[in-house]
Amino acid sequence: MAEIIDGRKIAEQIVAGVTRLAGELAADGIVPGLAVVIVGEDPASQVYVASKSRKAKECGFHSVQHSLPANTKQEELVALVEGLNRDPSIHGILVQLPLPDHIDADSVVQSIAPEKDVDGFHYLNVGRLVTGATGSAFVPCTPAGAMLLIERIHGKDLSGLSAVVIGRSNIVGKPMANLLLAANATVTIAHSRTADLAAVVRQADILVAAVGRAEMVKGSWLKPGATVIDVGINRIPAPEKGEGKTRLAGDVAFAEAEAVAGAITPVPGGVGPMTIAMLMSNTLAAAYRAAGREPPAV
Ligand code: NAD
Repeated sequence: MAEIIDGRKIAEQIVAGVTRLAGELAADGIVPGLAVVIVGEDPASQVYVASKSRKAKECGFHSVQHSLPANTKQEELVALVEGLNRDPSIHGILVQLPLPDHIDADSVVQSIAPEKDVDGFHYLNVGRLVTGATGSAFVPCTPAGAMLLIERIHGKDLSGLSAVVIGRSNIVGKPMANLLLAANATVTIAHSRTADLAAVVRQADILVAAVGRAEMVKGSWLKPGATVIDVGINRIPAPEKGEGKTRLAGDVAFAEAEAVAGAITPVPGGVGPMTIAMLMSNTLAAAYRAAGREPPAV
């Protein structure tokens, strides 16, 4: 049976480290500041934003939330971001996605100052990651968190290991592949046009699934002993819990995979909690850099 990678516990350890380091900075008169901006009433986004703001407060940060109506104009949103760029009490800016259809999300994201881009979506940070300058890049929080879970199993150097990432999104799949490459893994990116996905997955010592299709990856696809990182979050019917009830499922058929894998993340309780922890870690790093100091490892 596989080792179950406890993302909740590891995320708590990271948040505890961030809180301690934020306290040290505060003693020198610097309080890390995170501004979270949300436009519209999307219920899932409201939940995410509330938990990010709450966690920032728990870490001892200056935490600011801007909730704008769904009919906010793009120029108004960009003006708010530019104001936050100039505000010295704010070190990290996060604009919650998705944005309403009338707003060009990319223009808004690119208007965030790269040194405050704690989501890691600004082209400068993307470029740093792709060129292997991972020390100075803000790395998107979900793949950064997934990478820490992989390090817990394999260490920092993945030389000689074969990694397969399923999914090529800019938010998860591509930055994940670049992180694995920077750690010396031999990386394959699979996606919706990949032929014989099962055969590709079978090569993987490390598999990262970031697709958004419940239980798509079967246990029989896995190389025995593989490390399986399941990024997918899918809500599926759960009639066993009662009529109309649902539950969360990952992209990997967990029960089957657990019997074959060497280590595996559960859903929920795997990658999910790591995402917010890495946002806190990125914001702390932004505050250190703004003060001209090298951010310590969390
Ligand atoms: P996305 O829709 O942007 O990308 C999905 C990717 O999967 C695409 O690149 C596509 O090519 C690939 N794909 C689709 N169908 C496929 C198939 N049949 N075979 C192989 N590849 C296929 O999604 P995303 O934003 O990258 O998110 C992926 C999943 O991760 C979602 O379930 C999302 O909810 C979850 N997610 C979780 C967190 C977290 O905090 N844990 C954060 C972000 C995303």
